[in-house]
Amino acid sequence: MLDQDETTKSELRHRPIAVIGAGFSGTMAAIQLLARLPRRQPVLLCERAERFGGGRAYATGNPDHLLNVRAANMSAYPDRPSHFEDWLSEIAAGGAEAGTGSPAIGHGGDGIWRTPAGTFAARGLYGDYLAGLLTEAMTGGTMPRLHLINDTIIDIVPDGNHLVLIAEGGLRVEVAGAVLAMGNLAPPQEPPSRFRVDPWRPEQYGRLHPDHPVLIIGTGLSMVDAVISLRRHGFSGRIIALSRRGQIPAEHQRADPWPRPDFTAAETRSLTRLLVRIRREVAAAAEAGIGWHGVIDALRPVTDALWLGLPPADKARFLRHLRPFWDTHRHRAAPPVGAAIAGEIEAGSLQVRAGKLVAIEDQAGEARVTYRPRGASELETLAVQLILDVRGVGRVADTTDPLLRNLIDRGLVQAGPFGLGLAVHPDLTVMGTAETPARLWTLGPLLRGTYWECTAVPDIRNQAVDLARSVAAAQ
Ligand SMILES: Cc1cc2nc3c(=O)[nH]c(=O)nc-3n(C[C@H](O)[C@H](O)[C@H](O)COP(=O)(O)OP(=O)(O)OC[C@H]3O[C@@H](n4cnc5c(N)ncnc54)[C@H](O)[C@@H]3O)c2cc1C
Repeated sequence: MLDQDETTKSELRHRPIAVIGAGFSGTMAAIQLLARLPRRQPVLLCERAERFGGGRAYATGNPDHLLNVRAANMSAYPDRPSHFEDWLSEIAAGGAEAGTGSPAIGHGGDGIWRTPAGTFAARGLYGDYLAGLLTEAMTGGTMPRLHLINDTIIDIVPDGNHLVLIAEGGLRVEVAGAVLAMGNLAPPQEPPSRFRVDPWRPEQYGRLHPDHPVLIIGTGLSMVDAVISLRRHGFSGRIIALSRRGQIPAEHQRADPWPRPDFTAAETRSLTRLLVRIRREVAAAAEAGIGWHGVIDALRPVTDALWLGLPPADKARFLRHLRPFWDTHRHRAAPPVGAAIAGEIEAGSLQVRAGKLVAIEDQAGEARVTYRPRGASELETLAVQLILDVRGVGRVADTTDPLLRNLIDRGLVQAGPFGLGLAVHPDLTVMGTAETPARLWTLGPLLRGTYWECTAVPDIRNQAVDLARSVAAAQ
C-alpha cells in the first residue's frame, strides 16, 4: 500500500508541469523537461502571442534584424554546440527565406551573413529553428506529452499540493508545478505621451513625415533594432536617439582569443581592483596586437562567478556607473548591422545624443521633448512626430504584468537583488514570502540580479537543463 507521501508524489507526477511563456527560455525549458520528467507526465507550454518559439527576439519578420551572437554560439543545446550551425547549413542548401521582403543591409539572400567576424543569421530564421524544435518535441515519441495553450496566464493559485493555472480566456488547469519564463520585465512608460508607440510593433508607427524627426529613447541594441524597423517601415527622415551617456553598442570584430585572466581572490572581491586588472589585460592584449574584444570574450565564462563574488555595494556601483560601458562592449552588433548604423551616423540621418530626459509635452501634431544634455545646465527641446522607448528593462516593484502582480500579492514570488528579477534558490526554485513555498521555478531574464549573464542563448540553454533537473527531482 502507498503511504500518503507516495500518493502525493504519484498524483503530482500525472499532473502536468506548466511553462509560462514560449520564447527561447520557455521553449527550451519545455523541451528539456520532456527529456527529464517521469515518462507519463505532460508539459503545458503557454504563450499569449500567436507564435510559439519566437518571443520578443526571434518573432521578427524583418530580414535586417540579425542575431547579435555568432551562429557558432547559438545552439539551443549545451551538449550539441554545432546544432544551430548544422541546421543553418541545411537551410542554406535548401534555400532559406528570412522574414518578409529582401534585406536592405546586403547579403546573398539566404538570411545568413558570413563575415570575417563570424557568421550571423537573421533572427527570424532563429525563430524558425526554435519552432522546428518544438514541432519535433510535439510529434516525437509514442505518446504526445507536450501541449500548447495559446492564451495569457493571469494567475497561478496554490490549491493543496498542486497549483491552479488561470488563463485570461477562462481556462483553469491543475498543474503539479509551473516554470515562469515570461522574459524581460517591461520598463515603465514614463512620462506618458500619445506619440509613444510600441517599438516592436511597426504597424503602430503609422504614416511618418520625412521632414519631422522620430525620437528613440535608449541607445543600446534595441535602438539599433528600432532604427532598422523605422527604415523598413519606409521612414527616410532624421532619427534622434537619446540616452544618458549616448553610448552605442560596439560591433563584433574578428578577435584572436585572449586567455582567461587568473583573478586573485582580492580582485574578485573588489570592483575597483577587478577593473584595474581588466584594464591591464586590455593593455597587454593591445601590446600583443589583440583588441579588447578578445579580453571581454575571455571573461564570459567567469562573469557570473565574478558577479556572485562581489559585495552588494560593489554590485550597486557597477549598476550605477559601469553597466552602460559593460553592455556596449559585451553585447555587440553583427557587423552588417554595425556598418548600417555607422553609415546613418556619418550621414547625419541618425543623431545620437547624451542627456537626461526631463519632460514630454504633447501638442497638436507633435511631442515636445525636453532633455538636459550631458554636462550642460541649459535644457534643450526637440519636436518629434513619434517616440520609440527602448530603455532597458523594468523592475519587479514597478511591474504592471497581471500574473506577476498576482504572484507578488499572494507572496509566491518576491523581488531578487536590486529588484531586477525574482528571488531564487540555487536550484532555480522561486523564493516567495509565503510560509509554504509554491512549486514555481524560473529562468532567463527573470534571474537578472541574482546572476548577471542570464539573458542570452548561451546562458539560458544551460539554465534550461539545470531547471529541468531541478523540476524532475521534485516530482
Ligand atoms: C531584440 C532582441 C534581440 C536579441 N538578440 C539576441 C541574440 O541575437 N542572441 C542571444 O543570445 N540573445 C539575444 N537576445 C536576448 C534574449 O533575451 C534571449 O536570447 C531570449 O530570447 C530570451 O527569451 P525569453 O523566453 O526569456 O523571453 P522572451 O523572448 O521575451 O519570451 C517571453 C515570452 O513569454 C510570453 N509571455 C509573457 N507573459 C505571459 C503570460 N502571462 N502568459 C503567456 N505568455 C506570456 C511572451 O509573449 C513571450 O513570447 C535578444 C533580445 C532582444 C530583446
